[in-house]
Amino acid sequence: MDLTFSPSELAFRDELRGWLAAHHPGPEPEGEAESLEHRIDWQRELAAAGWAAVYWPEEYGGRGATLVESAIFNEELARARAPYPANVLGLVLGGPTLMVHGSQEQRDRYLPPIVTAEEIWCQGFSEPDAGSDLAALKTRAVKVDGGWRVTGQKVWTSFAHRAKWCMLVARSDPEAKKHRGLTYFLMDMEQDGVLVRPLRQITGAAEFNELFLEDVWIPDENVVGGVGNGWAVALTTLMNERAGLAFGLQVALKVLLDELTEIAAERGLLEDESVAERLGDLHVRAEILRLTAYRGLTAQMKYGQPGPEGSLTKWMWSETNQHATELAVELLGPEALATDSPWAFALLRARGNTIEGGTTEILRNIVAERVLGLPRMR
Ligand SMILES: Cc1cc2nc3c(=O)[nH]c(=O)nc-3n(C[C@H](O)[C@H](O)[C@H](O)COP(=O)(O)OP(=O)(O)OC[C@H]3O[C@@H](n4cnc5c(N)ncnc54)[C@H](O)[C@@H]3O)c2cc1C
Repeated sequence: MDLTFSPSELAFRDELRGWLAAHHPGPEPEGEAESLEHRIDWQRELAAAGWAAVYWPEEYGGRGATLVESAIFNEELARARAPYPANVLGLVLGGPTLMVHGSQEQRDRYLPPIVTAEEIWCQGFSEPDAGSDLAALKTRAVKVDGGWRVTGQKVWTSFAHRAKWCMLVARSDPEAKKHRGLTYFLMDMEQDGVLVRPLRQITGAAEFNELFLEDVWIPDENVVGGVGNGWAVALTTLMNERAGLAFGLQVALKVLLDELTEIAAERGLLEDESVAERLGDLHVRAEILRLTAYRGLTAQMKYGQPGPEGSLTKWMWSETNQHATELAVELLGPEALATDSPWAFALLRARGNTIEGGTTEILRNIVAERVLGLPRMR
């Protein structure tokens, strides 16, 4: 891939930089609900100016930008330290999945309100006994006249407490082989039978939830990609999840490392060889991450969809981010661990990075088998 931006890409970047400088939403307010509402307002402002879903076609509220411009968007957002739009699961996972597997009616109905954050989305994949082994899920969808009745339990469902739509994978044919008996649905969260119970995390925030489903109604027209094809549709969602955020995350990591370097310099710690060596190592990792993210982009341009390379960037970012937040605490000492310190939040939140969106062990298996072509263990 040619890493030099073309004149039109540079113009895109400069226009965006100017817009972000004029419209930056300011610091996020304290409190989880307040912060989410702040990011919803921010997404509405982005959407009104055509910046909320740059890579999406214009007919659905996007900007029709190229993949490189989309990468530039994520980089610039992180560089400006502006928050990511609130409807992240709709923008990064749900929308791209509908563009591949959804019917025209589904695209027309669901994509525009994702962009404007009128309808927030969540992802109902994981269950108490089906996380890494997602195809073991037990939530049952039973065919009835005109639709489906769904009963079961999901867990770790981020944003379920604020979501209108859930990307739900359920077992529609218990007789079929594990991966074949699944169907992907769009479930309306605002109905009887859907119970959302918040789960408090190590950070103190309750960003995700338990989701209990009791005889929930889903009409036939809300099946995505065909009955029994849920595994293939779910894989599209997961590939987008792992690849989609790489550009923003690598810049956010660089911003964090610059802050750490400043802190170390202020405290005279750059003279300490072990600190300098660890900072240097983290900067090298961040640069490798940037280049690998661009390599993933090249694959996406070739094949039209993100490939398994996204697993590599997600794995590299999550481990590097954990090392960086640990170093921050060492540099700052006990003050970093005060309750209201953003560093304490960053350190604790980073623990989940190696679990969410696929654990590091699972991502290593994917890289070994599907990127490097090593023999399968099973
Ligand atoms: C912050 C956060 C947000 C999340 N948001 C969502 C969401 O919105 N929607 C959703 O559906 N899920 C969500 N998840 C769930 C996440 O996808 C799962 O936690 C993850 O898939 C792991 O599943 P599990 O917790 O059941 O662990 P398990 O699958 O039980 O794994 C336990 C341990 O065993 C290891 N392991 C399992 N299988 C293998 C194997 N074959 N080879 C090697 N090691 C293995 C794992 O790496 C892990 O260390 C979220 C998780 C977090 C932390």
